[in-house]
Parts: sequence; C-alpha cells; structure tokens
Amino acid sequence: MRSLTHLKRALVAALACAVPAFAAAEDDPALLEKAQQIHDAAITVDTHVDIPTFFASPRFDMAEINVSPAQVDLPRMEEGGLDAAFFIVYVGQDKRTPEGYAKAMSTATAKFAAIHRLVSGDQKDRVGLALTADDVRSLHADGKSAALIGIENGFIIGTQIDLLDVYYDLGARYFGLVHNGHNDIADSAQPRLNLGDKPAEHEGLSDFGEQVVRRCNRLGMMIDVSHASKQATLDAIRLSRAPVIASHSSARALYDHPRNMTGEEMLALADKGGVIQIVAFDTYLIPVSEEKKAAFGELRKKFPFRTLDEIFGASPETKRAYAREIRSIQTKFPRASVSDMVDHIDYAVELVGIDHVGISSDFQGGGGIEGWNDAGDTLNVTIELVRRGYSEDDIKKIWGGNLLRVMAEVDARKGRAGRITSFFR
Ligand SMILES: [Zn+2]
Repeated sequence: MRSLTHLKRALVAALACAVPAFAAAEDDPALLEKAQQIHDAAITVDTHVDIPTFFASPRFDMAEINVSPAQVDLPRMEEGGLDAAFFIVYVGQDKRTPEGYAKAMSTATAKFAAIHRLVSGDQKDRVGLALTADDVRSLHADGKSAALIGIENGFIIGTQIDLLDVYYDLGARYFGLVHNGHNDIADSAQPRLNLGDKPAEHEGLSDFGEQVVRRCNRLGMMIDVSHASKQATLDAIRLSRAPVIASHSSARALYDHPRNMTGEEMLALADKGGVIQIVAFDTYLIPVSEEKKAAFGELRKKFPFRTLDEIFGASPETKRAYAREIRSIQTKFPRASVSDMVDHIDYAVELVGIDHVGISSDFQGGGGIEGWNDAGDTLNVTIELVRRGYSEDDIKKIWGGNLLRVMAEVDARKGRAGRITSFFR
C-alpha cells in the first residue's frame, strides 16, 4: 500500500467532479474508481526517463517538484502512481575518435553516478535501486519507488567490449545498441549526415555488434533495439539467445516514422518473447505538420540547447521562457494525446498479443503528450486503458508485468553464451 493513496483518491475525486480537459465527460465515477483500483494494484514501469548529469543533486532535487522541463521527481512519481522508472544513461552520438569515445565514457560515468546519488542519498527510504525484477516487486511491496538503469547508445563502450561488464556492474540492465547516427555496433534508424553517415554502414549489426549481443546475453543485460535500423533490429533479435526489448518505440503501421517499428520487427520481437514499450512521444504517434516543424525549428534557433545538461542547467527564467514557448506551439498545433498512444497499444496488442506490449514516456527526452505530460499524470493512461475495455490482468501486464517477465528471463538465461563462445569463434 503506498503512502500517498489518499492523494490519488483525492485526484480521482477531482477528476470526477471537475472533469478537466483530459477526462471525458461521459466517464462515470465507477470507471474512474475502477481505474484507480487497478492503477494501485499494478506495478507501473516506465522504461525511458532521461536525466542530466546533475540529476539528484541540489540542482535537480528529486525530493521537490521541479519546474518544467523537468517531468519526473519523487513527489510526482508518488502522486501519479508511477512505481518504477528506468533512468537513462544517454550520450548523443559524436565523432568516433579517441576524444569522442573518452567524452562519451565520461558523460556516461557522470550519469551512473547521478542515479547512484539518488538511491543512496537523503531519499533512500523513498526510492531504491532495482537490479532484478524481484527487486522492483519488493520495493513496490515496501511502498518505495524503484529506480532502474538503462543505457541509450552503445557509443559509451566505444570499441571496448569489456566496458559492458563494467556498466552492468554499475547497475545497467538494458543496453540500447545505437541512437541517432550509426556507431561501431549498429546502423541507426536515423543516420546523421553531419557525422558523415551513409544510409547504411554495417547493413544491420556489425561484427562487433554481434559480439555485443552475445556479451549482453552472457551478462543478463536486456538488449534494446529502439533507435536501431530495421536490419539491425532483426539481426539483434535473431542472434540473441534471450528476449529483446524496444524500450521506447511505437508502431510504423499507425504513423510512418523511422523510429517506429514495422509489423515484421514487432512480430520477430514477440516471437523471441520480447516486449515493445509504446512511447508517449508526440512526433512518433501522429503526423506533424510542416508549420509545426517550422515552429520547432524557430524554437531551436532561439534556444540552441545541445544537451540535456544545457536545458536543465539554464537559469529558471530561461527555462520558464523555453517551457512557455513549447506550450504555445503545443496549443497552436495538434499534439498527440493519451488516446493516440493507446491506439498504438491497441494495434500492437492486436498484432503481437497482450504479453508483448508495454509503456514508456521518454520524459525529459522529448516525451510527454496531452494527458500524460509528467509523472503526476500517470493515472490517465490507466483510465484510458480501462475505457478501452482492457481487463485488470491485461493492464497489469502492459504496465510492467511483461517487462518484468522479460527482465527475469534475460537474467535467468545469463551465462549461457558470451565470452567463451566468442573466444572460440
Ligand atoms: Zn530515444
């Protein structure tokens, strides 16, 4: 039982009475009550939350509600009933030079340190590090939030495969092969012309990428194919001896964006026992008009942030102005809603089955939609799932059961492949 259940109940009462923008007028209190009950009973896992390097420090105090563009902190996780989040060690793709690799490793190390600061600092009675699916369950049973660690962009190992072992020992439990721009492991779904990328560099996974898949299997680290090209995705799924995840991707059939998965990829992922975590990312869920793209182009000129540290490290006035401008673009142009996201969930469930679909936000990395704009709004997703007729068991699977099953299975299969196998190749 979570300590803030009464707050959530108050929220439901407020939803029922005030009927804010997102809650449809036809929702009766019984539906909202049922959604609240399921939401309380489920373990809700969000597989993608980005962080700056100074996360969980006085500059980003997780005990407080932080101003926009922050979307996740402990008060909002607790109020919204978001039980577990993968905080992301993300490094943008850069030149593959000794300096580029060194800088990537340095940023990665700072982000690992930040997540460890969260779970070992003042708030350690409120949030703990989860290294296994069972850890998530026991933290939840104790009424604590669970912090997990995922890696986004295999660039942070450079060409040194043993760094995978180091990052695993630091707590990473999924490894995103690639981000925007090819790296030494795999081709990206979105090549970077400014880094000299051709449409394809390895025609999928590289030889080194194959070693990486085997090493992840041996370690018991989930392989994440979000951001990988279609061929790299299919290669990784075929080669892996354990289920694979897509930590934050939606369905290409509903919106043809290179970051979304084709039916072929989704079926291969499910066939291997994996899970696709549908993502609350506006521009992957619905088409974006040229006018909206132009407005965001102007915004980028006005606020030329290159990294999350630059965004979150800006002065409060700059951050407020930035958030205001984003809000005005979002008001002017249609933005994806929770309903749009659940359309992608419906499609995926229909195609690959209820056991292979989950949810992610990409908060603080561009994620956030009408109705689920920060961790405090998380109940709205459950309300929409109930509205669509999903059962309590279905919702528990989608909200975290499936991901935790995959995590446990990848862990159970560790040690069966990897260093020895590749040694004899
Ligand atoms: Zn991403």
